[in-house]
Amino acid sequence: MSRYLNPKYKNLEAYTPGEQPQNMKYIKLNTNESPYPPSDGVLSAVNAKEASLLRLYSDPESKDLKKAIADLYGVNEKNVYLSNGSDDILNFCFMAFTSENTGAAFPEISYGFYKVFADLYGIDYDRIPLKEDFTINPADYYGLGKLIVIANPNAPTGLMLSLDDIEKIIQENPENVVLIDEAYVDFGGNSAYKLIDKYKNLIVVQTFSKSRSMAGARLGFAFADEELIEDLEKIKFSTNPYNVNRLTTAAGLAALRDNQYYMDRCKEIIETRNFTTEELVKLGFEVLPSNANFIFAKSNDIDGLSLYQELKNKGILIRHFSDEKIKDYNRITIGTREEMEAFLEAVKTILKEKKI
Ligand SMILES: *Cc1c(COP(=O)(O)O)cnc(C)c1O
Repeated sequence: MSRYLNPKYKNLEAYTPGEQPQNMKYIKLNTNESPYPPSDGVLSAVNAKEASLLRLYSDPESKDLKKAIADLYGVNEKNVYLSNGSDDILNFCFMAFTSENTGAAFPEISYGFYKVFADLYGIDYDRIPLKEDFTINPADYYGLGKLIVIANPNAPTGLMLSLDDIEKIIQENPENVVLIDEAYVDFGGNSAYKLIDKYKNLIVVQTFSKSRSMAGARLGFAFADEELIEDLEKIKFSTNPYNVNRLTTAAGLAALRDNQYYMDRCKEIIETRNFTTEELVKLGFEVLPSNANFIFAKSNDIDGLSLYQELKNKGILIRHFSDEKIKDYNRITIGTREEMEAFLEAVKTILKEKKI
């Protein structure tokens, strides 16, 4: 740290992303990326002609992309927001909808970035414990007067709240914004985006990073009432209006045209998830019922950190969190069927070696 850093950031603890080894020698099941490549349409959309246009700024209003998303989801363009990944949207929401007087509230076990944003803006926040079975108790979020942030399905548990529960939380928070982070909704979740017509305090955030195989392109989108979208646009135009770049725009448009390809890949991932869950249960694991492209699992024979380390020695990366309440578990991204078979073989070998 330099002596020039603003003292208010002195104790800020930044988010720790999962490992991104820059050689491809690992089977990578640690950051919830898709194991499948982008669609052919995306591969040909990011071409030399598009690259030659890079001398020009991108459209700061992202009109074409907004229209394509609005058409696909059956909403008005004025209810769509776009930014450089959904992390960027989360950041802008904390910036826009919290203050000295309005803090934030989110589950104690959830996406680690929420706490980082809350610390970054120096606001007051509640980390609300999950129930014993890792589910969220909706009533804990009623009438808090704070920005409510809930990942649905939740990470890293993969567990889902029903739309009725979400709607109740929105109704019980008329004085503040409720943000539903749906990074994993395409893997079996139920989106709340249709509720934006009914509630002025709801924002639903999604991303091209997971279900649309574009984590490296950085494209997130959100649905909300027109006034909330205007607030977010104000923040974006006060920081970085061109934050959705030209190549990402071209890729995003092509991905939306090829929507069926992605929904088919999601179906495949769901099948592989169910297969992997059954096999792990046979090996004596407890696996939470997941609605995401990962599973959260714990072995009764080996602790979470050792399993992570031994798999890494065998060239397979999964994610372990050292947080006391979840340290027995690992989060395992669902890869291709072949990758998951290799993962299961490695787990079997590790458990066998342990027993000798
Ligand atoms: C992956 C993830 C994000 C971030 O997605 P990007 O669009 O790549 O920034 C946001 N929320 C949750 C819960 C995630 O798992």
